[in-house]
Amino acid sequence: MATQQETIANDNSRFLISDLCHMLEGYLEPEQVQEVYQAYLFGAEAHEGQHRLSGEPYIYHPIAAARILGELRLDHKSIIAAILHDVIEDTETAKEQIARDFGSEVADLVDGVSKLTQMEFESQAEAQAENFRKMILAMVRDIRVILVKLADRLHNMRTLGVMRPDKRRRIARETLEIYAPIANRLGINTLRLELEDLGFQAMYPLRYRVLEKAVREARGHRKEVLNKIETSIKRRLRQEKLSGRILSREKHLYSLYRKIRDKTLSFDDVYDVYAFRIIVDRVDTCYRVLGVMHNLYKPVPGKFKDYIAIPKANGYQSLHTILFGPYGVPIEVQIRTEEMDKVAESGVAAHWLYKAGDQHIDYIHAGAREWLRELLEIQKHAGNSLEFLENVKIDLFPDAVYVFTPAGEIMKLPHGATVVDFAYAVHTDVGNTCIASKVDRQLVPLRTQLHSGQTVEVVTAAAAHPSPAWLSFVVSAKARSNIRHYQKNMKREESVELGRRMLNRALGVFNASADKISEQRLTALLKECQLDEFEDLLVQIGLGRRPAVLVARALVPARDEGTTTANGDAAAQPLVIRGTEGMVMHFAKCCRPIPGDPVVGIVTKGRGMVIHTETCRNLSEHKHPAENCLEVQWEPGVDEEFPVEIGVVVADRRGVLATVAAVISEEDSNIENVAIDERDGLTNTLIFTVSVHNRKHLASVMRRVRGIDSVVRICRLRS
Ligand code: MN
Repeated sequence: MATQQETIANDNSRFLISDLCHMLEGYLEPEQVQEVYQAYLFGAEAHEGQHRLSGEPYIYHPIAAARILGELRLDHKSIIAAILHDVIEDTETAKEQIARDFGSEVADLVDGVSKLTQMEFESQAEAQAENFRKMILAMVRDIRVILVKLADRLHNMRTLGVMRPDKRRRIARETLEIYAPIANRLGINTLRLELEDLGFQAMYPLRYRVLEKAVREARGHRKEVLNKIETSIKRRLRQEKLSGRILSREKHLYSLYRKIRDKTLSFDDVYDVYAFRIIVDRVDTCYRVLGVMHNLYKPVPGKFKDYIAIPKANGYQSLHTILFGPYGVPIEVQIRTEEMDKVAESGVAAHWLYKAGDQHIDYIHAGAREWLRELLEIQKHAGNSLEFLENVKIDLFPDAVYVFTPAGEIMKLPHGATVVDFAYAVHTDVGNTCIASKVDRQLVPLRTQLHSGQTVEVVTAAAAHPSPAWLSFVVSAKARSNIRHYQKNMKREESVELGRRMLNRALGVFNASADKISEQRLTALLKECQLDEFEDLLVQIGLGRRPAVLVARALVPARDEGTTTANGDAAAQPLVIRGTEGMVMHFAKCCRPIPGDPVVGIVTKGRGMVIHTETCRNLSEHKHPAENCLEVQWEPGVDEEFPVEIGVVVADRRGVLATVAAVISEEDSNIENVAIDERDGLTNTLIFTVSVHNRKHLASVMRRVRGIDSVVRICRLRS
């Protein structure tokens, strides 16, 4: 019986160039193998005298990397690039020399791989993020760059033992967080599984040993049952005149570990599954074998998955089902063709394995390129590498949800995707203007998570726009980056608007206005501030980076200044606020001002303006120098809603909370939050955050609440 078990390749026996050439002769042309040998001579000379930490000559490392790619049956250019991958980085040899001897394609590959490792960074997180960004950019040019890099990393992981423990953990973490997920996304399972197990072993040596021991012991007990089940499957297939290879599978340590950790299951729960893979000749046979299996053992309802009809994002195809086994233990069965099995192991690398235009494999390759193009878009919008990495990590999750558009088109979304993710997947404009959705014709809120098979229709409104709150539930990189992008643009528009009003107010002191500034003075000022246009200057004012008064003074000719009153501010009109300024104007959480309260604006560098009530304790002089304070005034008839906190002391009676809440709602005020502060057995203090239009509205809410029997006391809260 063929058993696929934990095989962490043992690199003790040295793999020589002759071994590599012998392996390559199995699938490459003789001239190509010859060229690989030339690359070896070139690399051996370049690395002459260099040694790895383990003490062995350096050239063994690139040969080992080339071997990994040879096992994936990659083309000879990738193999040559693997042999030369450290030549530019670690030796004097220049890219031109490689281009001259092996062609520009190989030179570009080697160059791409070198660039991934060269950078130096301030923080570990930043370095990792930047490396990742570079990797994606390199992959977009040629996917083989990442294949060489993965082979390099895998061999380094296999020989990690010689490193210092801290370095070992750093490399292991990077492998688990970045390289293994990329291998997974590209469908290269053989590399992914080994990277994960090696990474797990280096990150958590103790847990690894415990789990490994548990698996070894459990394996012994299971053997007999496994054999019995396998025999019955074989017998039944023979009866039905179906032929196929049957493999019993064992879960890899890292995936066992992850299941135990994430689902908080016990080892027995996770491990106690018999898993088989049946490999057959044709697609048609897959479905027939499935039928036979469901006849042999009862299937567990809801567990059947048809990844042949709907392949996974990385191109993986197979039928999955779970059966009720003979001893009460579930049996997991995967059924697929030989070719699907190859693709399951090598993913995008299969593109080089089957050169002659196989449709599904071309589809995988095209799919990977499409994914990379999307990443490129996301990277254009992302503010920095860290943001980009965060966005893309989400995309690396393999599970997907399949839903339908009203027209019956299938949309593939990441696991946990919500209506908003769906809307953005349809089109950016749909995402930007969505307000609600119908899932299977039921109206649902935007944050609703979608499940496979649902039909989703998005309701849009032309005037709607994305809310920053969506960032707390969207899961797709596309939605996330678009919402952020929109926010950034909005923030700029709002800053321009606020900056213009602040400047006009300041210019008012000099009897001037923004429309009447001399072109000449403006140009001079922009030059001095190193800004390109007037709007940039307004943004800086709006965001509090540049005091409006100083800008005004610079813009107004000196003689005009004489016309102001002695105390410049006396002539200035207070800045009018509307509550619609959005992201550049914040209302202080400490005093929660509402229209009607006398207020003061504090200009904070980079954040814009924060509005406090005049009596707020946080307004003390030493915290905010006078030049940052701005006289502001509510626009008459502001119609927005503002949150405010009220404390209600109530007698401890059943249903009192509901009564108070009902009264607040009757007064047309929304309850945003409620907290129960203290209990002394007789009374409770309920703290409501309610939204009101203004002081008058608040007063009427409080008057109604005070009228309730159980209410002892009520007051507006300010910290
Ligand atoms: Mn290397």
